[in-house]
Amino acid sequence: MEPAVSLAVCALLFLLWVRVKGLEFVLIHQRWVFVCLFLLPLSLIFDIYYSVRAWVVFKLSSAPRLHEQRVRDIQKQVREWKEQGSKTFMCTGRPGWLTVSLRVGKYKKTHKNIMINLMDILEVDTKKQIVRVEPLVSMGQVTALLTSIGWTLPVLPELDDLTVGGLIMGTGIESSSHKYGLFQHICTAYELVLADGSFVRCTPSENSDLFYAVPWSCGTLGFLVAAEIRIIPAKKYVKLRFEPVRGLEAICEKFTHESQQPENHFVEGLLYSLDEAVIMTGVMTDEAEPSKLNSIGNYYKPWFFKHVENYLKTNREGLEYIPLRHYYHRHTRSIFWELQDIIPFGNNPIFRYLFGWMVPPKISLLKLTQGETLRKLYEQHHVVQDMLVPMKCLRQALLTFHNDIHVYPIWLCPFILPSQPGLVHPKGDEAELYVDIGAYGEPRVKHFEARSCMRQLEKFVRSVHGFQMLYADCYMNREEFWEMFDGSLYHKLRKQLGCQDAFPEVYDKICKAARH
Ligand SMILES: Cc1cc2nc3c(=O)[nH]c(=O)nc-3n(C[C@H](O)[C@H](O)[C@H](O)COP(=O)(O)OP(=O)(O)OC[C@H]3O[C@@H](n4cnc5c(N)ncnc54)[C@H](O)[C@@H]3O)c2cc1C
Repeated sequence: MEPAVSLAVCALLFLLWVRVKGLEFVLIHQRWVFVCLFLLPLSLIFDIYYSVRAWVVFKLSSAPRLHEQRVRDIQKQVREWKEQGSKTFMCTGRPGWLTVSLRVGKYKKTHKNIMINLMDILEVDTKKQIVRVEPLVSMGQVTALLTSIGWTLPVLPELDDLTVGGLIMGTGIESSSHKYGLFQHICTAYELVLADGSFVRCTPSENSDLFYAVPWSCGTLGFLVAAEIRIIPAKKYVKLRFEPVRGLEAICEKFTHESQQPENHFVEGLLYSLDEAVIMTGVMTDEAEPSKLNSIGNYYKPWFFKHVENYLKTNREGLEYIPLRHYYHRHTRSIFWELQDIIPFGNNPIFRYLFGWMVPPKISLLKLTQGETLRKLYEQHHVVQDMLVPMKCLRQALLTFHNDIHVYPIWLCPFILPSQPGLVHPKGDEAELYVDIGAYGEPRVKHFEARSCMRQLEKFVRSVHGFQMLYADCYMNREEFWEMFDGSLYHKLRKQLGCQDAFPEVYDKICKAARH
């Protein structure tokens, strides 16, 4: 048979199958069909377009020139909103489906959308060790440029599509955060357009209240139009040590110990059950033993969390040299372990070699095409949560996660939380070591009920002076929310800057009722 005829027959059979089963059935129960046939190629086109655009803009140096004009346009939109009587709250005009967070904010439909078309790297100053960027610059864009010129961000959150604006206004973390803190802690200045349309720059010494209040405020104090972020020299590889550890006590002890060692540039733990984990520690280096080089980011390579699990299964320690950029985006191809639920055979070598170069599908496109039924199913049978708790409570926290949701693998990422003003800081006056516990997947507890199980978990997190990342489903009521987060500086500034009529309160923006 001619290839074209076979293709047509296959397409016909496929359409017939969809017709018999019903489109909704196929979209929900066999999502991989839709993802592999449509979303993967579409995601590739998206990626190519954005990478080429970012490269051209930076090479032509047109961004700094256009930046001021674009900021003036944002100011103009805010002033027009004011002149028209400030009838509704404002929010950024970026469509909800484009963000990494799995939710699509309901408020986008009712609030005044301010269009913020700021997606360029403005300047790299290697003398001052600062990069100045616009808020829609993504982590993929940053690593592509900075690592090619020998620099990097001290904290480089993992997924390619995370944006600077989202990481500052929300949260950003990486396996170097035990040294450098959260993404906000490597920022040295923010530039914002406020509720009255004025422009302001804030740093730890200039408009410092605003500087400390911005992180985690989710765009409810003003619009971020640029940020200055520290950079450090990059090396070619990460020398990564893998150590399987068994027994909850031993895991917590080892992980805490490694997080306290200043010579470890990177520390990460993957917990595969309550008492089985692989702890990874890494340092940057320019030299690599060729036999131990592992370009883990290549499309045909196994998914990172599966590769790590092998060390546990075979019960052996390991040492590998991973190219820096591959290390940074090690969980990108499998979206941590989320992709295994969508493409169950995605880590199969045949699939990787044939189609791996198109993976992962863009989270934004997955969200755009998931439909209401699938969204509700996800909400009831799927957990995506990051809880930040003091390291000293790690054991207790892992037991609570195990009993309340039972999701594995669990991501463990240590970070130092400085004692600074703002929504998130330790209880005492000194910096404290915390850990981000990330649970992504299907809960395995009997009779999982999203609301009650998550409320139980949130209660525990509050009780140990921990914090919930605000991108996730939050089931707390207002009182509980302000028990978790310190609102003193935030509320003072909202009053002072006229935000109360311009932006919703952060709780109203992220709480469950506001989000779909
Ligand atoms: C599957 C998944 C994987 C994740 N992986 C990681 C990870 O590896 N590391 C990590 O640190 N985090 C991770 N996160 C969490 C992530 O950090 C947050 O979801 C982050 O806030 C989302 O970034 P975004 O670029 O999509 O921002 P958005 O969702 O677009 O923005 C977050 C908030 O900031 C506000 N905002 C954004 N830009 C502006 C602006 N210019 N002015 C005013 N307000 C603004 C938005 O209104 C919104 O309230 C993950 C989340 C998910 C769902």
